Amino acid sequence: MTKIGLEIHLQLNTLSKVFCSCSTKQVETPNSNVCEICCGFPGSKPVLNKEAFEKALKIALALDCKINRVTFFSRKGYFYPDLPKNFQITQYESPIGINGKFRGIRIRRVHLEEDPGALVHKGSYCLVDYNRSGIPLVEIVTEPDFKTAKEAREFLRELITDLSYLDVYDKKSDFGLKADLNISTTGAKVEIKNVNGLKDIEDALTYEEERQSREVPKNSETRGWNAERRITVLQRTKESEDDYGYITETDLPVIEVSDKLLKVIKDSIPELSKEKLTRFTSQYKLSDKDAKVLSNNKRLSELFEKVAKQVDPEIAAKWIIRDLVNQLNYHKKTLDQANIKPEYMIDLLKLFEGKNITDNTTKQVMIKLIKEKNFSPKEYIEKNNLIMQSSNSKIEEWCEQAVKDCPQAVEDYKNGNEKSLNFVVGKVMQLSNKTANPDIVRKILVKLIRK
Ligand SMILES: [Zn+2]
Repeated sequence: MTKIGLEIHLQLNTLSKVFCSCSTKQVETPNSNVCEICCGFPGSKPVLNKEAFEKALKIALALDCKINRVTFFSRKGYFYPDLPKNFQITQYESPIGINGKFRGIRIRRVHLEEDPGALVHKGSYCLVDYNRSGIPLVEIVTEPDFKTAKEAREFLRELITDLSYLDVYDKKSDFGLKADLNISTTGAKVEIKNVNGLKDIEDALTYEEERQSREVPKNSETRGWNAERRITVLQRTKESEDDYGYITETDLPVIEVSDKLLKVIKDSIPELSKEKLTRFTSQYKLSDKDAKVLSNNKRLSELFEKVAKQVDPEIAAKWIIRDLVNQLNYHKKTLDQANIKPEYMIDLLKLFEGKNITDNTTKQVMIKLIKEKNFSPKEYIEKNNLIMQSSNSKIEEWCEQAVKDCPQAVEDYKNGNEKSLNFVVGKVMQLSNKTANPDIVRKILVKLIRK
């Protein structure tokens, strides 16, 4: 039976590094965001970034972990050029959180650590960039509770969604989401190191499951994921666990998590996606599908809720969850990029709700909102005479013209082809610059043609 466990690394969205005041901002120039501390010069002393600790604590609480009320840091010793002080500051014996649960998967531990530097391979030689050295990472380790690659991917997707609700995770960084994947099928356990992104994680696990059915691993193996060839590659076999010779980091104090801090952090945890999903279906009577689209997207759900306060939720759902999402996808933009002001969306949908503009106009203006954010739909609609025409005399004029212009369609309709009326309606919409009330158009056309 396949068993999969994940060791997930996420970059926290703090302004400065975890043990010094260097910026975490990504910069072009290598080795420019560095100091004695993050480069581990002799005599330099780390100081813990309070924000990083509190964000890690927030993640542990959101994953339902038991919090270690007394916690400290350790030195994980290993020798590698990306780590000038020859140890990484991490947590070993006393992670911030243990024994949690998320979406039915047991969480073994959540701890805070620093990222090492980055090696830049240049053909026959290699350069080191320490800008990443000391960037705060949270490691989330699950128990081997996943049975399929797909389950693991779905779990990670939901985890990322909730972390974005917690506002702790740096989505914009190149680092994104990285994980070590542990997978065993019938033989020994195999670890696939450093796989980036949801798709590659799922593909690496799927590949490995299939490979292990062909070549059963006798000893534990460490493998790497070759993203170009879409295969895992053997790095080393091991008889025993790695020995990192952990020792306590005595340059950092032991941290006591007070009742007060615990309460403050607990209270700062917002409604997460699962609760949102349930609430959206009951409060706004949304379908499961619509509620899921919303609860998976923080920005979209915020926009929806603002609009649904002033516009019928059913109308808001149709236009925001379906049309807006479709149009954003079509124009290859995210909601963040489009950055639509909620008040503009409210203005637009109120006009639609009050039957002041047609379906078609609503759609056109929404597309304009996606493309250019700085214009008021209300002013634009008034200026361009896009208010829906419901005056019968005006519509009658357009209808008479359309009947003249489309003799064949009129004839077909008279001969019983109901659908050909749509063609004439289309003509009226064209003549009216899409402002004629389609219900009235239909009524008038039917009357005119039957005369
Ligand atoms: Zn530094």
